[in-house]
Amino acid sequence: MTGSPTTSVLRTGAALRAGAQTPRLEGGATPDVPLDVSLDVEAAARANLTAAVLRAQRRFADCADLAALAEEVVDEIQSAGYGRVLLLETVARSRHRELEVLASRGEAAPVRGRRTTGADLARTAPAAVVELVAGDPRAPRLAVWGAPAPGSAPLDLLAGAAGAAWCAVRAARDARRSAADLAAAQQLLSGAVRLAGLGSWSWDPATGRFTLDDRLRDVLGLDPAEPDPDLATWRERVHPDDRGPFTSVGDPAARTGGASVPYPFRVRCADGSERTFLGTSVPLDTSRSGVVQGLVLDLASGDRSTGELVRLAQCDSLTGLANRAVLDVRLDEALRTATPTSAVALVLLDLDRFKLVNDTLGHQIGDALLRQIAVRLQQAAPAGSTLARLGGDEFVLMVPGVDRPESAAVMAHNLIRRLRAPVLLPGLPEPFVCTSSAGIAVGHEGSGDELFRSADMALYRAKDAGRDRVAVYDSAMRDDAQARREAEHKVRRALRTDGLRVVWQPIVDLRDERLVAAEALVRLQDPVEGLLEPKAFVDTAEDTGLIVDVDTWVLGEVLRQLNEWRTGGNGLQVSFNVSGKTLEHPAFAHRLAHSVESTGAAGSSLLCEVTERTLIDLSTSTRASLGELRSVGARVGLDDFGTGYSSLSYLDRFPLSFLKIDMSFVRPLGTSRRAAAVVEALISLAHAHGMVVTAEGVETREQARMLRDMGCDRAQGWLFGRPVAAGLLPLAR
Ligand code: C2E
Ligand code: MG
Ligand code: MG
Repeated sequence: MTGSPTTSVLRTGAALRAGAQTPRLEGGATPDVPLDVSLDVEAAARANLTAAVLRAQRRFADCADLAALAEEVVDEIQSAGYGRVLLLETVARSRHRELEVLASRGEAAPVRGRRTTGADLARTAPAAVVELVAGDPRAPRLAVWGAPAPGSAPLDLLAGAAGAAWCAVRAARDARRSAADLAAAQQLLSGAVRLAGLGSWSWDPATGRFTLDDRLRDVLGLDPAEPDPDLATWRERVHPDDRGPFTSVGDPAARTGGASVPYPFRVRCADGSERTFLGTSVPLDTSRSGVVQGLVLDLASGDRSTGELVRLAQCDSLTGLANRAVLDVRLDEALRTATPTSAVALVLLDLDRFKLVNDTLGHQIGDALLRQIAVRLQQAAPAGSTLARLGGDEFVLMVPGVDRPESAAVMAHNLIRRLRAPVLLPGLPEPFVCTSSAGIAVGHEGSGDELFRSADMALYRAKDAGRDRVAVYDSAMRDDAQARREAEHKVRRALRTDGLRVVWQPIVDLRDERLVAAEALVRLQDPVEGLLEPKAFVDTAEDTGLIVDVDTWVLGEVLRQLNEWRTGGNGLQVSFNVSGKTLEHPAFAHRLAHSVESTGAAGSSLLCEVTERTLIDLSTSTRASLGELRSVGARVGLDDFGTGYSSLSYLDRFPLSFLKIDMSFVRPLGTSRRAAAVVEALISLAHAHGMVVTAEGVETREQARMLRDMGCDRAQGWLFGRPVAAGLLPLAR
């Protein structure tokens, strides 16, 4: 970094200022000499000084390199009368003593004459040491011995002039070096481009020139004498449908970031034929020149099949729809021309529970379904839109020219309605029904990435609200996403810093209200917000997959506590909640089985609560985990029964030992006869399946009495105890 070319005096000898003294007049003043003659003399002296400094400046400015400059500086200062002058090119900042040390090591080298030895310097201390460029350790310092001649320019002014020249010469040298480096790099690059059989172009916004390299000119059959085109002429050569990337070249906003995604484009050759290339553009040196360079691969060359390469570059191989690369280019292009009344809609479509299709029916059927979905979407996609598959079961429709978000919503509803219609899949005896969810964002400014993020938030909302629906992005979703990010951060931190806790809620036998079990409920001890309940973080932990770690941690606590109670002679059962995501990880069940076997914990005391959602999405790995839990004696039961799903068919999917009736059914007991009838029916249904029934959320005596009369086996709720630390459970009941 270059410092300002001012000087600073590190040590000033008595002689330093001597040269700046005003020369005295020899002899007395004559009577016709004006009275203010001393002022004239001072002015003349000042003029002399100025002239001396200017002369030095000119002398230094003529130097072509640093060595020549050093010679001139030493010479100029010596001619100001100093006995000895040294330019010290050491890096360390030095006071006089250090200077001596440096010199004795031979590091303080004089620029001219013989090498100064430590002995030379030690003999007499310099009168002054001055930095040529204050604060710049790369700039040399000046050491002088002796006193200046009368009337000579002061040392700090001369050193200042030398410092300014030194900065200028160094800047010129650095510029020469980087120009040489750049030229070498360009040579290397063009060599690599030639070797790879690529052509290249570059566009310089400063000159407007669009330069084609020899290979590209050759392929296009351009006459060597023909000048390079400008950007507009080049665009005209490119097929109208493929001009997007060359339109964005001229747009500073589009010039941020790295290389573009590869885009195929067709160009008219000199003989009128058309040639297809695969191109990519890279902004060079974005901050300064704005030059853009492009590399192009001639798809007609070698043994590559043009059609195949274009297809590979543009298409998703499974469905033949556009791929992400093409979508990105078209989206950027659409956004550039969009207006508030002709905006761009991005519809993200995701099949609901597609993973289950792959898991249960196999990947071939999954692929066949995706292909059929693609065909349906293509039939419904409006003209001018781009339909792409991003991978998996994620599809995107990009529609330009949309007037209002509502129009996009109508279109999306239409799409998911079409997708909902039964599909005939090879190998399946019956038509298959698959629903989907859509997230929409409509915009006319900002980047394609931002629009994607917004549509993604809307899709999340659609899924979260129960799937098979459409959600349009609004700014509240951004706050929501922010809250989820914060919750995620809290969970990660809690996992890292031992910030999770378990509280226990009593479960009683309804016949005698004896404590028979306790449910482990997780809490998060946040350093700022205190003890958080699951509603503040469990959903986010589910979405991010962190729930696996949370459940695993809770399981550790559950097993530890179970052993402690056992050792204390207490036969309490322990109930714990496990997310479907956790059960998909075989490690969870393995760990549980291993712990039970190795610690001798009573597996039969474990009650594992799963949700209806887990049974509906039952994958092979989840089923295996549940099987493993059962094999060590743990009982698997259904939590929150009655919420969400009307079909009970999933009850037969896995042998369940118990069922917990959700508190929403329990709460109206005593006030609604209908509710009582429903609960009674649920209890009979569970008993018919051989399950033990627990009622959740029992808060009143009346509810407890009614449940007992209906034959409900167990109850949990504030009436019998809130969730508390293990030590506070009324174990002796
Ligand atoms: P859940 O498993 O149904 O747990 C019962 C919830 O009802 C608990 O809420 C409990 O405090 C609350 N509750 C119990 N009795 C009453 C009552 O009489 N009145 C009212 N109003 N509420 C009562 P909590 O602790 O906030 O847990 C909420 C949910 O978080 C749990 O519902 C469970 O689904 C989930 N959860 C808790 N711990 C874990 C865990 O370790 N892993 C997983 N995956 N989920 C957990
Ligand atoms: Mg539970
Ligand atoms: Mg529950």
